[in-house]
Amino acid sequence: MSNERPCEYREAMLSFARCAIPACPEHAASGSDRCLRHSDSPEELQREAASLLSRSREHARLNLSGMRFSGLDLSGHQFTSCLFSRAAFQAVNLRGCSLHLCFFDFAELSDCPFDGSKIMYSVFAGARIARCDFSGCDLLHTNLNGIDCLETKFDDSDLYFSRFIASRLTAVSFVDCNLKKVHFSAAILNQVSFKYSNYEEAEFKEDSILP
Ligand SMILES: [Zn+2]
Repeated sequence: MSNERPCEYREAMLSFARCAIPACPEHAASGSDRCLRHSDSPEELQREAASLLSRSREHARLNLSGMRFSGLDLSGHQFTSCLFSRAAFQAVNLRGCSLHLCFFDFAELSDCPFDGSKIMYSVFAGARIARCDFSGCDLLHTNLNGIDCLETKFDDSDLYFSRFIASRLTAVSFVDCNLKKVHFSAAILNQVSFKYSNYEEAEFKEDSILP
């Protein structure tokens, strides 16, 4: 008699194992049965995570939340259903990547090129983004609500149905973008350029501060 599960059984796409420490609400980090905070060796876990990212170009269902990455070349990589919540990326090359259902909520992204990437159904809510480049991207159905974004370009990108609600955007450019159904409601916009973009098809509402 087989104990195997019926072959039609499928886990939900975002089902991650819990940390092995009782009552810890976090998910276990990839490569461990514990979350980063409860790891015996967080530094080693982070080194393994950086190695894991560099060894392969296709990544699915990783949980690297809270980890810090610097100077990695991940250009052209594919990420599906990965968690990078509260992680830090500094000068990480993410050019030409595919990011599908990935979570960067409350992450810190600085000096990272994402140009030419295809980013869909992903979450950057609450992130701090500085000096990044999202030029030439498909950045679709993505949640950038409440971000603090500084000196960053979204030029020549399709941002259809993405959200920047209640975000603070400073020295940010959206030159020649598709802004159809993009929400900027309650956003604070300073030195923001919408040149050559269809900003009349975006949603600002009366509580947005137009440039
Ligand atoms: Zn834990």
